[in-house]
Amino acid sequence: MGRATPQEVVLPLGVQVLADLPLAIDPDEVLRFQGYKKGVDAPTPDVRALFDDALAEGTRLMLPRAVVRWLPVEARGPDTLEAGGEVLTIPLAGERWGEVEYVAAAVVTIGDALERRVAALWESRELPLASMLDSVGSGAVESLAEYLNDVLCQQGLAAGLAVTNRISPGYADWDVAEQHTLFRLCPGSPVGVTLNAACFMTPGKSISLLVGAGARARVDHYFSQCARCWMRDCAYRRTPARRTVHR
Ligand code: SF4
Repeated sequence: MGRATPQEVVLPLGVQVLADLPLAIDPDEVLRFQGYKKGVDAPTPDVRALFDDALAEGTRLMLPRAVVRWLPVEARGPDTLEAGGEVLTIPLAGERWGEVEYVAAAVVTIGDALERRVAALWESRELPLASMLDSVGSGAVESLAEYLNDVLCQQGLAAGLAVTNRISPGYADWDVAEQHTLFRLCPGSPVGVTLNAACFMTPGKSISLLVGAGARARVDHYFSQCARCWMRDCAYRRTPARRTVHR
């Protein structure tokens, strides 16, 4: 892969708001939220029909958006990254990500219309559809976070930087309390996402995330990002996609 020289680095530093993002909802992911195990539990035709109804309704209700902020890394430690005047404490960040020179903090959301509809369905005791629609929303926001990871990878590649897989507070040993630090770096307000004292985001179908980037950043060492990436025409693809890239 050709590397850009420092003068050519074109990372879009500053706050970016991305709207009209494409959504590809994986039925297996939605069914996983329903408690189905892939390759083990086969949904009945009734469940499939319920999924189709929920998907159609959910697709109408979702407003996928993201806010992103790239920042230069000011200092790195074995378990810390400093950027934007904040210290992020991420266990094993140094070993897992290597020499990251930039981080991107981001918040993705599908908006609140879907969860308001779910609440109304619960109220009217339409429980199966309420539950399936909620799972469609969960699958959609996961898909959105993956897509944003791929967009960030493309932005990093344009600047000659490898981009890591995303991580989120509350997962993989990263303390959920760090949500506040992440929100100070990249507030969710431009896309209507707020954070309360208990670290819950509103709307609930939102994900906050962080990626690292660097010419010598460690990527692909615990799974290949390209294998699940949606960027069909990426010239830098390191491994084939596991299945059809259908965005
Ligand atoms: S195919 Fe690989 S290199 Fe290209 S954007 Fe996707 S993850 Fe990045």
